[in-house]
Amino acid sequence: MTVGHSGRRHFLKTLRVAALGLGLSAGIGLSGFAVAGPDRTIVTTTAQVGDIVRNVAGELAEVETLMGAGVDPHLYRPTRSDIARLARADLIFYNGLHLEGQMGDVLDRMADDKPVVAVTERLDESRLLAGQSGTSRHDPHVWMDVSAWMEGARTVADILAETDPENAATYRRNADAYLRELERLDAYVRDALGSIPERARVLVTAHDAFAYLGHAYGLEVVGIQGISTESEAGVRRIEEVVRLLVERRIGAVFVETSVSDRNVRALIEGAAARGHEVTIGGTLYSDAMGEPGTYTGTYVGMIDHNATVISLALGGTAPPDGLNGQLQIEMN
Ligand SMILES: [Zn+2]
Repeated sequence: MTVGHSGRRHFLKTLRVAALGLGLSAGIGLSGFAVAGPDRTIVTTTAQVGDIVRNVAGELAEVETLMGAGVDPHLYRPTRSDIARLARADLIFYNGLHLEGQMGDVLDRMADDKPVVAVTERLDESRLLAGQSGTSRHDPHVWMDVSAWMEGARTVADILAETDPENAATYRRNADAYLRELERLDAYVRDALGSIPERARVLVTAHDAFAYLGHAYGLEVVGIQGISTESEAGVRRIEEVVRLLVERRIGAVFVETSVSDRNVRALIEGAAARGHEVTIGGTLYSDAMGEPGTYTGTYVGMIDHNATVISLALGGTAPPDGLNGQLQIEMN
């Protein structure tokens, strides 16, 4: 390499640093060398969908998520600033299957001038579970079945590649790496839940977010409230579940980060009144992930947490630090 050449490279580097320091946006007057920076802005509704898109798009897009930790997507209404963000986006991904029950009109409107894609839209019918009475044909909580959710990641990779063919190879490579991680996760969940003694494989929670988990990994799932959180559980439903806890000697029920735990507490009191002790087995992430920047603020972390908590509370043998050594689940 000649001195002149390396000197020129050094000059360009300095120029680039100076340009970034001035806060110039990518590309202005700096053609001739690549300025790393997101080209597209992609907005997602839930954080689970955002996790897929962030992983598959990598450096090639700025990804924004509307619903944060602890947010209930069934009830979520877009704010004015959400609508502005959706309007500015180049591309929108959402869960679909009526998870975003209050956002249908807004998403329809956005679809007039940009791709608006449900990550569940290419899922084969055979992978979907039925919804409950009237409100929705299919249960929307697909991310609870890791291998079905992997189909969502493949859909995102397809759409990103179709809409930005120049970078198709990068999207494919990123998607492959992400899918390998999800494959490991799927195997871990299977082992963690499979280690629960057979008679104890019953998961009682506030709302029916876990049917896919139960179906994919062999747990019986009992929700108090139905698939959406829109209606409160009736007294009769609470009594039914109390009877089940007592009769089957189920010792733990679970609360959720995005749903009120009032109904779960009513169960514990109801069972105690009949002389059967039930404890809270832990807090599960159902419709929302943990805080951004934390392990449970990732899809892998969220599912790892759930599987590990459920396994340990129901007598299984999952490692208390989880799949990646990043959890600290306290055992009762
Ligand atoms: Zn839900």
